[in-house]
Amino acid sequence: MITDVVIAGGGPNGLMLACELSLAGVRPVVLERLPEPSEEPKANGLLGQVVRMLDRRGLYERLSGSPEPPQPNSAYFMFGAMGLDLSLLEDSPVYALPVPQRRIVQVLQERAVELGVEIRRGHEVVGLSQDDDAVTIDVAGPSGAYELRARYLVGADGAHSTTRKLSGIGFPGVTYDRMTVRTAHATVPADWVDPATGALNVPGHGAVLPFLPHRTERGGFSYAPMPGHPPLVSATEWDRPGTDAPMSLDELRASIRRVLGVDVPLGPPDGEGPHVLRRLTGGNTRVAERFSDGRVFLIGDAAHVYAATGGGPGLNLGLQDAVNLGWKLAAVIRGSAPPGLLNSYETERRPAAHRMILNAQAQSALIAPGDDVTGLRELFAELLRDRSTVQRLAELVAGADVRYDMGGRGAHPLTGRFAPDLELHTPTGPVRLAELTRSARPLLLDLTEEASLAETLALWNDHVDIVTARPQDSAPTALLLRPDCHVAWASASPRPDPTETEELRAAVQRWFGVIESARP
Ligand SMILES: Cc1cc2nc3c(=O)[nH]c(=O)nc-3n(C[C@H](O)[C@H](O)[C@H](O)COP(=O)(O)OP(=O)(O)OC[C@H]3O[C@@H](n4cnc5c(N)ncnc54)[C@H](O)[C@@H]3O)c2cc1C
Repeated sequence: MITDVVIAGGGPNGLMLACELSLAGVRPVVLERLPEPSEEPKANGLLGQVVRMLDRRGLYERLSGSPEPPQPNSAYFMFGAMGLDLSLLEDSPVYALPVPQRRIVQVLQERAVELGVEIRRGHEVVGLSQDDDAVTIDVAGPSGAYELRARYLVGADGAHSTTRKLSGIGFPGVTYDRMTVRTAHATVPADWVDPATGALNVPGHGAVLPFLPHRTERGGFSYAPMPGHPPLVSATEWDRPGTDAPMSLDELRASIRRVLGVDVPLGPPDGEGPHVLRRLTGGNTRVAERFSDGRVFLIGDAAHVYAATGGGPGLNLGLQDAVNLGWKLAAVIRGSAPPGLLNSYETERRPAAHRMILNAQAQSALIAPGDDVTGLRELFAELLRDRSTVQRLAELVAGADVRYDMGGRGAHPLTGRFAPDLELHTPTGPVRLAELTRSARPLLLDLTEEASLAETLALWNDHVDIVTARPQDSAPTALLLRPDCHVAWASASPRPDPTETEELRAAVQRWFGVIESARP
């Protein structure tokens, strides 16, 4: 028997892909080598466009525990340990959701199971080979070795991906050994915390704003009060490799003293763990030389890793890889995919990975020690007074500047971009766009006068969900959304003319492979 899709790795990205495939009618099997979810503290939260993407699947509510939609950060954020004044922007693209990675995995696993995904824990992918029809996967399971045949295998098995290695896909890039980051959950003196700003007032040094890394000539320091947890305190030093001895709070205290020049009396964390106490030396910035090989695909850390300094973009990238690949792979399996659809996975996601790496590398350069960097920072601080610079950097850190090539003339500025949040008035009442995208189906939003497009496309509604509505304000008049919520086509005309309607037809065909005979 051939399984449609096997996913190697039940981390956040593998589980997200499993949910996306299931929504599109394909039930994958997830093979996860760990018998239980990992307790290793990794991500503290999600940053950027992915927060809105999770809202589009109804997962934001589960992760945030709030029925309210996500709100952008409109105060400040950071870039290279410099403040980005987001209050200058009309629409801040910076969304953040502080939630630990193990909770993300738990929520995605629950959702995947609800959707009928089979998750085999304690099952490790140890070998693979391909022929024209399928991938044969060697699995080491709790009851011994066995083989699985799958039409496609997706490696979501992390930075050291076995799938990538077995497929002979190189992982070029660089390994840095020039910096050591020590991080711990720890208590700080309560009277050092400014109740108005949340800043940590360090006597002899000054105020350190929460979440905004602070650079000195000797390194970096950050203080992040996490909801429901003791604060996360971190110190970064350059050219001072860590030892092999187990990390301790004393080691972090000493590092902070070197960086700030004063003592910060950290106490052991209170409350329930697991608590972070880690030292990371160096880091890797690498991108797979191909994101696929025949019937094998890579997503998430298996496809790209980078040494992050600017607060958590890893899952912003990986979860959106999963959302990009899921509907395309499902369309191929259902036999409805237009030619070349699967190739667009790499064409679209490789530039997104490079953009995130550029973001991380530019931020690293800005926090490095040295007079020349101090000069660069002074100049940068001047540039950051310009609204347009803040806008550009805010979009970069949020990954909101990703624009896919949708072919055609793409005249509308939204084409290729992640669809904006819209409040709509439908015949059945008001609705947020995010509530219409939960089924992960292609969607045509017809906001034109007299719903002229809906009628034109009526015969295609097997392929595309059509919603007619009135927008709350002067928004685009029509949007064709792919399941990943990127805009495949858009119009600003109250009544799109035949040329525009023809472009819309072409876009439907390009992405959803509507057969000629179904044309109205
Ligand atoms: C200290 C730290 C802090 C971070 N902070 C943030 C943050 O704040 N925000 C953010 O967005 N990102 C953060 N990241 C990055 C983020 O954790 C990763 O991008 C994310 O874990 C990648 O998810 P993944 O599913 O691709 O891989 P992983 O999380 O590595 O999951 C891969 C899974 O595959 C399984 N596996 C491996 N090999 C096999 C095999 N052969 N067969 C079957 N299963 C296998 C593993 O057991 C694992 O469960 C952080 C990373 C670290 C290390």
